[in-house]
Amino acid sequence: MVPIQENAMTAQLKRNFVEMNIRMTKNEALEEANRCLYCYDAPCIKACPTSIPIPNFIKKIASGNIKGSAMTIMEANPIGASCARVCPTEELCEGACVLNASTKPIKIGHLQRYATDWAMDSDVELFKQGQSNGLKIAIVGSGPAGLSAARELSRFGYSVTIFEAEAKAGGLGNYGIVSFRLPNNVVDWEIEQVIKLGVDIKTNTRVGVDISADDILARYDSVILAVGMGSVPKLGIEGEDLAGVHDAIEFVKQTKIGSLTEEIVGKRVAVIGAGNTAIDGATCAVRLGAEQVEILYRRTEKEMTAYKFEYEFAKQDGVGFKWLTAPKRVIGDETGKVVGLECVKMQLGEPGVDGRQRPEEVKGSEFVMELDAIIKAIGQTRFIQLIEAFGLQHTNGVVDIDETTMQTSNKKVFACGDVVFGNGQGEAMVVTAAQQGKDAAYIIHERLRKPSEIA
Ligand code: SF4
Repeated sequence: MVPIQENAMTAQLKRNFVEMNIRMTKNEALEEANRCLYCYDAPCIKACPTSIPIPNFIKKIASGNIKGSAMTIMEANPIGASCARVCPTEELCEGACVLNASTKPIKIGHLQRYATDWAMDSDVELFKQGQSNGLKIAIVGSGPAGLSAARELSRFGYSVTIFEAEAKAGGLGNYGIVSFRLPNNVVDWEIEQVIKLGVDIKTNTRVGVDISADDILARYDSVILAVGMGSVPKLGIEGEDLAGVHDAIEFVKQTKIGSLTEEIVGKRVAVIGAGNTAIDGATCAVRLGAEQVEILYRRTEKEMTAYKFEYEFAKQDGVGFKWLTAPKRVIGDETGKVVGLECVKMQLGEPGVDGRQRPEEVKGSEFVMELDAIIKAIGQTRFIQLIEAFGLQHTNGVVDIDETTMQTSNKKVFACGDVVFGNGQGEAMVVTAAQQGKDAAYIIHERLRKPSEIA
């Protein structure tokens, strides 16, 4: 393995889970806001999955109305503070900014963070609970989709209960996105906004264990399933249950709750997979003190699924990449601890049914990497048992929905977020999940309103 080149930046990165991006100063925010052309029919709005009125919130920053700016953002996106940090803005709003053609795009993400940070620091009340309409909604899962749906439904006057299996609410935000991109205090603030609207979040409550799906279906007027995805699936190779082989989802979660130590990770780490979760696992390992971190992928750089900015970020952290490389066998010592990984070189063959070239082993190309830890990041499993407990039709764990109504095979149950992502349905972005949560809330409201109230 190639050791990470030690320099001032990597030395600083190690053991450092503090947020990376620096907040704009007031002057920087004003200067940037004043560059905006406040376009008519602004393409940046169209590129935002939650349709934040971007020129509008930027203009409010320019005129000193920061509360108004934060309200504009949070009205359109109930997790607008998180999205200011985790959205791939260069592929969305900033990528669509007209100024790309002449100078450089407006730093929309930074301005969004500036306004929402102000709201967090000021502890202002942004929204009010609606007058009770006597109807009850259950939401399973408190991640981006669940929180967004809850916020909107509560403003409409529904009594909303969220069932959350973890000890804390927030889902992906509090457990799945690395702290140096999204600190927990930001997610906690967004959760608090929802709780202040009267939403009851029952944490440590597993549907199917602490309450049954049938109970929920019987007690609530409508149900939203927003449970996201599960753990990393098995590699299916010898030795993968040895100590020192980590599931990337669990690995990142442990860094978020602070229970991982340098000793657990060791100095030499291989990450299997090349999506955004693999990048998260690799960059967390660097911050935990690993000196040699390499990502192994059975295809090439061209086919990797990680965002370009995530790829660049990993390279800046000193993470290495072994393309066309697949794991064959995890090697352990006499104590049952990982000491190596046997790999094999691959080549791309004929396209499969999905149109992608199939990776094939190059015979006789096996080699061994000496390692202290392995992080598996080859996708995520689905909560099939839970989906079936509600009696919902699904395709390989992806809940089947009517894309216009978010309705599942049970007319009372709607689904949104990662639980409907996959098999060509939707896009696995936090901001998309937030919009789907809003959509589910609006559709439920439309369906449950009394006929006399429908215009
Ligand atoms: Fe401002 Fe760019 Fe949006 Fe135009 S496209 S309103 S310049 S941020």
